[in-house]
Amino acid sequence: MRIVLLGAPGAGKGTLAKDLVSYFKIPHISTGDMFREAVAAGTELGRKVQSILESGSLVPDEIVNQMVEDRLKKPDCQNGFVFDGYPRTVPQAITLDEILNKMCKKLDAVIHLEISEQAVVRRLTNRRVCPKCGRIYNLISMRPKNDELCDDCGVELIIRDDDKEDVVRKRYHLYTEMTEPLIDYYQKKNLLVRVNSEIDHQIVASQIIERLKKVRT
Ligand code: ADP
Ligand code: ZN
Repeated sequence: MRIVLLGAPGAGKGTLAKDLVSYFKIPHISTGDMFREAVAAGTELGRKVQSILESGSLVPDEIVNQMVEDRLKKPDCQNGFVFDGYPRTVPQAITLDEILNKMCKKLDAVIHLEISEQAVVRRLTNRRVCPKCGRIYNLISMRPKNDELCDDCGVELIIRDDDKEDVVRKRYHLYTEMTEPLIDYYQKKNLLVRVNSEIDHQIVASQIIERLKKVRT
């Protein structure tokens, strides 16, 4: 099963990806996580993209596309994958089609998680992350047991730089401008599955899995 998740930052792509990973036994490929790991590890790639990530802008297409092509060659992608945060621009989508073509493969479905700007701001400005283990919380929907401390590590939770309100709004607008054209692109290829992601996450996930089971023939 080869899946792409589209949706504004905060639409719940990461959470949904985890459900799809465990159901279909495919790897989760998050370009955002890959960049953050590169920054944390201080690799050459990380040094190149660090300031771009902090500002909430997009990493240039050539860098992202190369990283993705290398990733798709790994053996764990043999039976499929779920992309989260890629492609983000039409040129990236065209490149992804070319990469898959070379491998004699194609996408099965593109899931669009629909959400309003207001809901995104509310979700992301309340998101907290444990600096030690990376566990993610939300002060509204997934509160830690004690104040703002990690349940597992007891350390104080932090706000990701790009979850600050002005950066969140910038990321949302960037999404509408750069990524929404992809909805048309995939609609024309008849791959698009649209879902309202403002409702309960469990319902969203089970609706999508039912739809995907029909896609896989
Ligand atoms: P979000 O939380 O906005 O969905 P991600 O965690 O997917 O963001 O990505 C974090 C940052 O990594 C983005 O703001 C951007 O700088 C960079 N990035 C991730 N994926 C891409 C991509 N496909 N194209 C360009 N930049 C990307
Ligand atoms: Zn922790």
